[in-house]
Amino acid sequence: MTRLDRLAARLSDPLLVTSPVNVRYLTGLSSSNAALLVEPGGGTTLYTDFRYLAKAGRVDGVALVETARDLVGSLASILAGRRVAFESGQIVHAAYARLLEGGLDLVAAGGLVDGRPKGPVEELRRAKEPGEIASIRRAAELSDVMFTALAAERFVGRTERELAWWIERTFREAGASGLSFGAVVASGENGASPHADPSERPIEPGELVTVDAGCVVEGYCSDCTRTFATGELPAQLAELYDLCLQAQLAGLAGVRPGAHGREVDAASRVAIDAAGYGDAYGHGLGHGVGLEVHEAPTLRPESQDELEPGNVVTVEPGIYLPGLGGVRIEDLVLVTEHGAERLTQFPKELLTVS
Ligand code: ZN
Ligand code: ZN
Repeated sequence: MTRLDRLAARLSDPLLVTSPVNVRYLTGLSSSNAALLVEPGGGTTLYTDFRYLAKAGRVDGVALVETARDLVGSLASILAGRRVAFESGQIVHAAYARLLEGGLDLVAAGGLVDGRPKGPVEELRRAKEPGEIASIRRAAELSDVMFTALAAERFVGRTERELAWWIERTFREAGASGLSFGAVVASGENGASPHADPSERPIEPGELVTVDAGCVVEGYCSDCTRTFATGELPAQLAELYDLCLQAQLAGLAGVRPGAHGREVDAASRVAIDAAGYGDAYGHGLGHGVGLEVHEAPTLRPESQDELEPGNVVTVEPGIYLPGLGGVRIEDLVLVTEHGAERLTQFPKELLTVS
């Protein structure tokens, strides 16, 4: 059964798929201006403009319709009067208004959960197929290659931005098609901000440096964080590292089919809470990874998700102390039939770099 067939089997109304990543997932077509109408009984129409016609012509199992560059305007007249479900967590308001103006009877499908789109296609994307897992595995292997080479680099005296660029170059030279997101290199007190932008700050001796980076292989992302020490650490920072590692191992141990996202998250909080740093761990334990670096399912206190085989999630507790620094340790993990497999293998004992 193709992805389109599996989607069609779940629908009660025709679904208009407008999210570019969802169009790519369902058809393999990478386009900034394409949409699909998937009929509940099967039968899919692919709409796109002149620029993507040649590529779209190679998509199997769809009827192809050329539209104007104004794709939404074209859809508004082509689909006028029809009852159509739309991706309510994905579409922008102006596009929604234009379709409504055209006379479509619009039914919301999905919405936003924890601030992220969740609809019929996102649900399908949660459980990865073997081919998708193979691509994520390769992206994770390149993460290991990058971190291995990074650990041999000089840190002290170089700026965060210099190291971030080194990371990007190394991923590309190793064969990645791009980065999953702009690499985070957060040294010293910048490490207290989980998603700090790399700055012109030169890295100093005796501090923690958090490096969070991932790459894209065959469209699929990896995501991995390690925190390095640049020489001997103050006792409190060394303690934070040990605590974070303990939390990360507890989180990893909870990943298996049937586990609830909120339970796995809770397991990672026990040691950090007991040490009195609960408030300094202000984000969820992890998120799904696939075509996008943040997707379903989530491991967070509010998560409604239950893990199933084929899910790929991160396990990434962190502790952040303003003015002092921070630590985060993140692995990418595949949920298997009976447990979990860690896809990022770079060591997690505290590594001292020069
Ligand atoms: Zn990350
Ligand atoms: Zn992550």
